[in-house]
Amino acid sequence: MTKQTGKCALCGGDLAFKYRPMPQWNVSGFICSKCYSQKLLEHYITPDRQNITKK
Ligand SMILES: [Zn+2]
Repeated sequence: MTKQTGKCALCGGDLAFKYRPMPQWNVSGFICSKCYSQKLLEHYITPDRQNITKK
């Protein structure tokens, strides 16, 4: 197990505040506020459309 403290697991930027990603995001470690809100948006905005286009 690698403990990532101080770096965002997604963008690698410094963490002013650590955000714990949701399990369904498949992100290990903490992420920054920017990536967190971005992920939130992604998962809120992508209901069925992405699944349909991808499959
Ligand atoms: Zn980030």
